[in-house]
Parts: sequence; C-alpha cells; structure tokens
Amino acid sequence: MRLIFLGPPGAGKGTQAKRVAERLGIPAISTGDIFRSNVSSGTELGVLAQQYMDKGEYVPDSVTNDMVRARLAEPDAAQGFLLDGYPRTTDQVDALDGMLQERGRALDAVIELTVDTDEIVRRLVRRAELEGRADDTEGVVRRRMEVYGEQTAPLTALYAAHGVLRTVDGMGPVDEVSDRIVKALEG
Ligand code: AMP
Repeated sequence: MRLIFLGPPGAGKGTQAKRVAERLGIPAISTGDIFRSNVSSGTELGVLAQQYMDKGEYVPDSVTNDMVRARLAEPDAAQGFLLDGYPRTTDQVDALDGMLQERGRALDAVIELTVDTDEIVRRLVRRAELEGRADDTEGVVRRRMEVYGEQTAPLTALYAAHGVLRTVDGMGPVDEVSDRIVKALEG
C-alpha cells in the first residue's frame, strides 16, 4: 500500500503513522523525523532545515522533494510506504506524482486526521513537556498552524477530487483511532 497521512500539528499523525504502518508491514516515513535526525547529527541538510523548523516554516520544496526521492528509492519502500508529513505543498504533490509515475505506481489512499483545536493545544502542550521539541513553543506552534492552513489544508480538496481522500476522526483513545484508520482503508 502507498499511503499519505495529512493533518495539522498535534493531530496524532506521527503516533498513528507508526502504528498503522507496522500493522500493514510497510515503512512509516516521516519527513519531520528525517529532518530532526539530520539536525541532531549536524549534517549540512540538518543545518539548513533547522533554520526553517525553528521558525515554524516549511523547509524549501526542492530540498524536501530530493530527500523524499532518495528515501523512496531505498529497498524497503519498494512494496509500499506510509508518508507522514509529506506532501505539504502543491509543489510537493506534483513531485510525488512524478516519483510514483516513474515507477508506474499510484496512491492507494490519503488519510486526513481531524482533531478539534482545544484538543490540539492540549496534545502539543503535553508533547512539549514529554519530548521537549524545539518547535513546540507557543509562538512557533501558532506559526505552524498558520502555515498548515495556508499551504497544506488545501491539499485535502485536491486529493478528494482524485477520489483517494478518507477523513478519519482523530479524537479519542489512540487504539480507537488506529482501528478507525484501518477500517477506513478497508472500506
Ligand atoms: P513534523 O514533525 O511533521 O511536524 O515536521 C516538523 C517540521 O519539519 C515542520 O514544521 C517543517 O519545518 C519541517 N517539515 C517536515 N515535513 C516537511 C515537508 N513535507 N515540507 C517542508 N517542511 C517540512
């Protein structure tokens, strides 16, 4: 299966992506995780990405697309993958389409996780306490939400028009949300 997870910061994408990918036996590929590991190991990519991440802005499309192209070329992604946090812009949608076309593949589904704003704030405050992510501070979270609304939220309409969008309620216990996602993929 080739899947995309969409949703605002704090929707539970990362948590659900790892669980669902494991159930399906495909790799969960998080662009945020790849950037963060480059930041901590101090690579050239990490130094560049951090300038954007610290402000809640998106890393430039060309950089992100090249990174995903390289990741999808690894052998474990040949039988399928779950992309968590990519694509986030229309340019990235086009780039991914190109990568899939080169392989003669198509997307199976795009899962959009929806969560109400109060719950998002609660989850991000909790995550800030538990993980201490540099971009989980109030000002940066606010900017990440804005950027999501401007650049990423419009992608749902685009994927809906292609008939691949499945919207899933992301509220409630983690297990229940995972079950809803798996059911949405079967339906
Ligand atoms: P995430 O872990 O998915 O919340 O991503 C954390 C940060 O990494 C984002 O706020 C961006 O700065 C950067 N990032 C992750 N994925 C992308 C992407 N697809 N395009 C651009 N920037 C990204």
